[in-house]
Amino acid sequence: AAKAEAVGSYAIFAGAMRENAIEALALQNDLRQAIVDEQFALHYQPIYNPSTQTLHGVEALVRWHHPVRGSVAPSGFIPVAEEIGVIRDIGRWVMNEACNQLSVWSEQYPEHTLHLSINVSASEFSHPQFLADLEAVLRATSISASRLQIEVTESVFLSNPERAGAVLEAVRRLGVRVALDDFGTGYSALEYIDKYEIDAIKIDRAFIERMLTHKRTLAIVQSVLSLGKALDLAIVAEGVETWAQYNKLHAMDCPLLQGFLLWRPMPPAEMTVVLGRSLHRARFGQ
Ligand code: C2E
Ligand code: MG
Ligand code: MG
Ligand code: MG
Repeated sequence: AAKAEAVGSYAIFAGAMRENAIEALALQNDLRQAIVDEQFALHYQPIYNPSTQTLHGVEALVRWHHPVRGSVAPSGFIPVAEEIGVIRDIGRWVMNEACNQLSVWSEQYPEHTLHLSINVSASEFSHPQFLADLEAVLRATSISASRLQIEVTESVFLSNPERAGAVLEAVRRLGVRVALDDFGTGYSALEYIDKYEIDAIKIDRAFIERMLTHKRTLAIVQSVLSLGKALDLAIVAEGVETWAQYNKLHAMDCPLLQGFLLWRPMPPAEMTVVLGRSLHRARFGQ
């Protein structure tokens, strides 16, 4: 009986594996189709300056509107896109779409010096065509390069640090800013900050979450903030979810804040309304 049971559970296991494999294949095929049909959309999450009480900029976050699965988060398809070699197509779509949106907002609100952040994964960043793609988008959309920031994680330095450093410097020569995303969760971040002129650091949400209950975490956040001051880096606290976190960060002079407390990522039409309101407040107060 024991043996039969073992064989039976093996069969179930093998069945589950086959189902997983079939599911993975289906996802890959759907993703290829999604690129052809452009089933993607960008949502935007504001980045807020608490001392001037103005919007510093927005971060573009990709969504996949699957005809059956519904909205798929980037963690559900970016790794698949990398696996099957279509990440460059998605990355180019994201850059184009975001830069077009920025130029629409710039025309609509010319007095707003809105900055736009785009996430670039390690494999996009190390793609031989990445710089050419970025330049092409800048040419095609006439936005000023200094309004654009790309967010990379420290993982871009893992496989070929020299090349990553060269790409980073070339991006900055174009006038585009570079931010280190999810700061503190990767490897030996200080080395890259020492070697390359990075423009901004985004403190990972995990630190913001723990900082009010763990003294050590608070000390780390504090030291990143003073590092930012000393090196003239823009520091963004990610994942601000409570007023207690907001007040603490503001009291510590954290220059920029982002998180669900302020705004969740939203579709462009909603973002347009938020931008209009924030300009109105800046002009007329409250
Ligand atoms: P990220 O760049 O660190 O983006 C922040 C993520 O945290 C977003 O998730 C955002 O919705 C979420 N978030 C923002 N504020 C809060 C908060 O207060 N609390 C919590 N719990 N979460 C918050 P999302 O949109 O699912 O994106 C996840 C990751 O996917 C991003 O992390 C980024 O690494 C990647 N990603 C997003 N868009 C793109 C893209 O266009 N291209 C590439 N290559 N990667 C992207
Ligand atoms: Mg990001
Ligand atoms: Mg992040
Ligand atoms: Mg992240």
